[in-house]
Amino acid sequence: MMHVVIDESMSPGEVLARLSSLRQHTRGGKRSPHKPLLVLLALGRLTATGSSTLSWAADSGKLADLIRDFGPASATQPAQSAAYPFTRLRSDGIWTLDRDVPMDRVQPLTTEEVLGRLDPRLERALRDPELAAAAARRLVESEFRQCAFCGFDGQLGATTVGVEAAHIRWFAFDGPDTADNGLALCSLHHKLFDHGVLGLSHDLRITVSAKFTSRTTTGRAVYQLHERPLDPRPGTTPPAPAHITWHTGQVFKSPALTA
Ligand SMILES: [Zn+2]
Repeated sequence: MMHVVIDESMSPGEVLARLSSLRQHTRGGKRSPHKPLLVLLALGRLTATGSSTLSWAADSGKLADLIRDFGPASATQPAQSAAYPFTRLRSDGIWTLDRDVPMDRVQPLTTEEVLGRLDPRLERALRDPELAAAAARRLVESEFRQCAFCGFDGQLGATTVGVEAAHIRWFAFDGPDTADNGLALCSLHHKLFDHGVLGLSHDLRITVSAKFTSRTTTGRAVYQLHERPLDPRPGTTPPAPAHITWHTGQVFKSPALTA
């Protein structure tokens, strides 16, 4: 009998869909970025070395550091919080270990020199550096969404609240739906940006219109944004100069405050 083995490669769409299904993951109703952080670490390794393989012995400390810096506050031991994604990401079908390790168990990871890597089909598709960059950007944008002006990152359970995708050059004025024309902004700063109270300079600093007035301390807090550097998340595309020029000329209520 003829046996035909078809090495099906994954399309970019399939790759992104597989990775974005991680978005739904929560622990006890709270945002759990542990798995996305492991995927980001593996993507970085793949881009740097051509293989996504991570060794528990050599790399779990880096993973624990990422979880400490970007995860929710937790009293969990670092090794335990790294063991969670390192073993559990397997159940998402995108991660493999070179030996069997029970879920969440730190001890077998430590005593048996365990290696983990992305699913081979996924890894092959992600050797395309553009796709790897797009995948990393998607993960960062969906998991670590916060206002690029003030850092607001409100969550209700696992869902982001009050953070929106703003267009720099308006959609109605030929603004493209591309990453270099987008900013994640909280609802307030989105509104103020669209009214020209807030703008952007070419060195990616926030500008505040001198025409903006407010009576209260809360309202006047807007002045403090003036000249503050934009704070996009790592892996996101900076705004294109042409779109900044459009917003400055067409929307921003000049003059800006003087520093
Ligand atoms: Zn904001």
